Parts: sequence; structure tokens; C-alpha cells
Amino acid sequence: MAGVTHTEIRESIASLVDNRTIQTLVRDWENRRRDAGVGRLPDYDSFSPESRVLERDHLMVLVPEGQGFRYDYCGHGIVSLSGFDMTGKSTADFKGGLGRWFRATHEEALETGRPIYTVHSAQLAASVISWERLILPVTGPDGTPWIVCYNESLNSKSDLFDGIMTASQDGIILFRPSFDDAGILVDFEFLAVNQKAINILGRSESELIGHRLKDVFPAAQGVETYKEVWDTGTPGEFEANHLEISRVFHVAVGKAAGKLIVTFSDITDMREAQECLEQQSAELMFINETLQEQASVLVGLAEDKSLAEREAREAQRFTSQLFEAIPLPMYYRLKDGTLGLVNSSYADLFNADREQISGRPLADLLPPEIVAWIDEKDAELFADPQQKQTYERDAHFPAATDRRMVVNKAAIFGDDGTPNGVIVAMMDTTEQYHLSQELTRLASTDSLTGLYNRRMFQERSEEVFGRVCRYGHHASLIILDIDRFKAINDGFGHDIGDNLLIRLAEILNASLRRSGDLAARLGGEEFVLLLPDTNPEGAMALAEHLRAIFEETTIATPSGPQRFTASFGVAAMSSADQSVQDTLKRADAALYHAKNNGRNQVRRAAA
Ligand code: GH3
Ligand code: MG
Ligand code: MG
Repeated sequence: MAGVTHTEIRESIASLVDNRTIQTLVRDWENRRRDAGVGRLPDYDSFSPESRVLERDHLMVLVPEGQGFRYDYCGHGIVSLSGFDMTGKSTADFKGGLGRWFRATHEEALETGRPIYTVHSAQLAASVISWERLILPVTGPDGTPWIVCYNESLNSKSDLFDGIMTASQDGIILFRPSFDDAGILVDFEFLAVNQKAINILGRSESELIGHRLKDVFPAAQGVETYKEVWDTGTPGEFEANHLEISRVFHVAVGKAAGKLIVTFSDITDMREAQECLEQQSAELMFINETLQEQASVLVGLAEDKSLAEREAREAQRFTSQLFEAIPLPMYYRLKDGTLGLVNSSYADLFNADREQISGRPLADLLPPEIVAWIDEKDAELFADPQQKQTYERDAHFPAATDRRMVVNKAAIFGDDGTPNGVIVAMMDTTEQYHLSQELTRLASTDSLTGLYNRRMFQERSEEVFGRVCRYGHHASLIILDIDRFKAINDGFGHDIGDNLLIRLAEILNASLRRSGDLAARLGGEEFVLLLPDTNPEGAMALAEHLRAIFEETTIATPSGPQRFTASFGVAAMSSADQSVQDTLKRADAALYHAKNNGRNQVRRAAA
């Protein structure tokens, strides 16, 4: 009968039901049935509460009456478990399907003359989850068929158990083991479930209670664990995936009081959270690893950088110290025109400290035309990496005017071949320059008169002779010799002779009109004038002019002013001459003629 009954067993009750009392009662009933003979039920006396001392608390005696059965007896155990006493009442007093089912099973037992075993949920009982019953048809004391019914709670609910079942967030199932005839465990039967378990299993209470696990869930997970827990008594656990609702459960299995207690904890959220955490952890690990890698790269870079920086600083310090150690003005000028490194010697030229001029454009320090000239020279260096420049220049600095500098320059190129700047070292050669100029002057002049000497005359006259030969220019020589100079020396002394030589040199210098004209002392009282761009007539005129001046000139002597004269030989340079010596010889020859011809006169050489 739907809604009430869960299990009804009619055959082989003793072997199918575990309850030993029921097994005993069934076997006893079968024996007595056999003894009673065909068509007879066992006598009530054998199953009455009075004779069944051990079982009577769980016995009920029902007598057919009217539309149902009257409860003639109701055992104390049943009353206390159910919370009410049915003695004297009728199955018809149970409303709805329950009363009808009681009557139907009782009537069936009487009609068939066979026991019936049932399990039904204890819908009304206070402390029972479900009842199992053995319905035995007997012959009553009055000869009519009665029913003796053994009632036992499949499970008693203690308040604690009830509380646990209700309050638990977990699904809880109580199983009872099922054995085959050989006493081997074959399955488990649902004894009790809480609401949570009903939700999880997706079956109603009546679809579960009294039914075997295999029948309800043929593919149930964890059955092996159930059996193992049952056999060993050691708690077990496993994880079950409920695919239909996509939930994961942690299932704990324990054995207690001849029952299997199974709890289902929904760990889906926890598992998801755990997976999420694991993923986050993995991501964090990855990030951490990446960060560590980056950190080590950074550390490496930092080490490289600090090493490189230290090396660069050392190189810079070395360069700076090197610059300072060299006593020459030195600077490094960057390609943009500003000064880079400078040393103190260079800064001194500007009356400045190194820091004051380093970093400034050179144009701040020097006149524009000088900077323009330097820029031009620097551009040459940038264009040719092989080039070095050395030049000598007059130089002017705020703190060092009129200097002669030898400047050495080289461009500095980067790794990629582009020029970075120019390094410049300057040597102040002013003193040497002046000295060498003086030496040159001394080497080329006559110390008494200050005129050029013979060596200088030869150099210059050869240059002029070259131009005469190449370009047909005019050029002339005038050679002159003081007349009777020996007598002056002898008469007034050597000093007076020297004075006359000096005076004559002054007159010669004063008479030179063109920039290329040159007066030289060839030796003794003999002089020569080199006259480029002067034809023989011009030279003759000049010689005559000089002869006249000398004639009018007096020099002081102890004996009073004295006059003197000189003789002149004039020759024009000619490409016919082999060298200027030839021209000089011809002029000398003309002079010789002048002497021989009475002195104080000018003679022109033959061409
Ligand atoms: P002439 O008219 O023929 O040239 O007669 P001269 O006396 O000038 O001729 P000579 O060449 O024989 O004499 C030149 C003299 O000049 C001889 C030498 O003592 C003198 N003399 C040469 N060099 C110097 C000098 O530097 N200073 C002086 N005071 N006399 C010098
Ligand atoms: Mg003379
Ligand atoms: Mg002479």
C-alpha cells in the first residue's frame, strides 16, 4: 500500500530478516503450524503475551471486529516507543492509509494463513524511525483466527540522535547490513536518513527506508568501503562525485551498534575554494619566481652597472689625474663645441678654476674669429680619424698675452666610429720661439752694422735670381766699397772706422725704398744692395744718389769732421748668368773698374 508500506516479505522471512527474535518467532510458528496439521493455524497460547515473556513488550494481539481489528493487547515497549496505547482501540482508529494498510495486511495473513513481515515508517510514533513487524495468524482462544503481531522499532531515536539528524549540515544515513543465507554480507539497507541526505540522494524517505542500497542505487559509490568498515570496524572515508548536481561529497563511514553510519559532507565549495587557492598559489609562485628571476637579473645588472660605473669612474679619475699630471694646457672639447675635461694649466690661461670653464662653450672664452678657425680645423679632424694636427700659432689668452703655442690635436671617436670630440694639448713655446728668432736674426745679420750678412744676402739673392730666370723679372745688384778705408783706420783708429761703417749702413737702410730691397755687409768695408724689380738704369741712379750722399757726409774724428767716399759697381741679374755669383762677380768687376778709374764713381758691369 503506497505511502505506508516499504517492505513486505512473505516467503523465507527467517533467512531474509536479521532480527533474531523475528527469526525465532517465524521458525517457531512454522514448527507449530506443521504440528497443528493441514488447514490449522498455531494456537494463540503458544504466542500469547503470557507465554512469550521475552517478547511480550513488543507484542500486540489483534482480534477481527467490525471493519477492522481490535487491539486486545499492546505491549509496554510499543506503548513507550510510540507514545500512545492502542489497547481496546481499532485499526480503524488510524486515519488514512495507515489504518487501511494495517487491516489489509492482517486480513491477508488470516486469509493466506501465512506470516507477513513488514517494515513501515513510524509516522505517528514519537521515538521510532520505522517499525518492523511480524504478523502471525493464529487460532484464537475462541477458535476464530486472531493476529499476534511482533513490533519492534528498526531504530530508536534518542533525542540526541534526533538532534544530530536534524541539525547536521551533513547528510546522514544509517544502514543495516543484509546477509545472504550463508551469512555473507551482501548489501546494506536504509534504516534512517535525515533531510539533508534526502536532498543529496534525490529520493524520498519512503523510497529509501527499508530498501537495499543496491536496489535504490545500483551504481552506488563506496560500497566497498562500506563493506570494509563493516568487516574491520575501522572508520573509512572516500570522496563521491554527484554528477547530476555537480557536487562533491566527502563521505565518512563508521560502524556503531550494529549499524553503519554514513555522513555526506558537501565539499564542493570548499574544493572549489581550495582549487582556487591552489591556482592562486601557483600563480603567486609563478609571479614570485618571475620576480625572483627579474630580481636576480636586476641584481646582475646592478652589479654590472656598479662595476661599469666604478670602472668608468676610475677611468674618468685616471683621465682627470693624467690631465692634471701633464704640465701642458690640455682640454677635451666635445663635438657640440663645449669644453669637457680641462686641466688646471689650461684653466690658468683664463685665470679660472677648472670647474669654471668646464662645460662652457669655447665661444664664451675666445674671440669669434679664433673659434671659427678652430672649428674649421676640428672639422678636418672629424672627417679623418687618422689625422693628427700640430700647428704653431701666436696666441692670446686673458692671462697670457702674446704667447707662441704649439698645438697638438686629435679627434676621439666612439665605438661606432662617430667623433665625440677633440683632445688638445698645447705647448707654450714663447721663450724658445723668441730665442730661435734671435738666433735666426743673429745668424743672418752683421753684428756691427745690423745689416744682413753675406749668408742672408746669398739666400735672398738666389730667390730673386730664380724669379728673374723663371719670369724674366728685372733685378739688380749694387756693390760698393769705401775708398781708402785703411787710411781712416790708420789715421783715426779702428773705432772711428767702425763708426763710419755704422753710419754708412744707416744711409744704406734709409735709401731702400721697396719692401724686397735688401742691404748686406759682405765683409770689411764692402756692401751690397739687392734690388728686385729694379732695372740697371734704376740701380745706376740709386748708386749715383748714394755716392753723392756719402760725398756730402762727414763723420766725427778727434781731428774734426772727416769726409769719405765710396766706389760702386752695378750689375743687372741676367738669365745668362749661371748663378747669382756670376752677377756678383760682374758687379765686382765693375767696382774694380771704378777703383782703378779714380774711385768715388759708379761703374756699370757689362751684360
Ligand atoms: P781702396 O780704396 O783700394 O779700397 O783702399 P782701402 O784702404 O779701402 O783698401 P783695403 O781693402 O786694402 O783696406 C781695407 C781695410 O779695411 C783693411 C782693414 O783694416 C779695414 N777693415 C776691414 N774690416 C774692418 C772693420 O770691421 N773695422 C775697421 N775699422 N776696419 C776694417
Ligand atoms: Mg776699400
Ligand atoms: Mg775693400
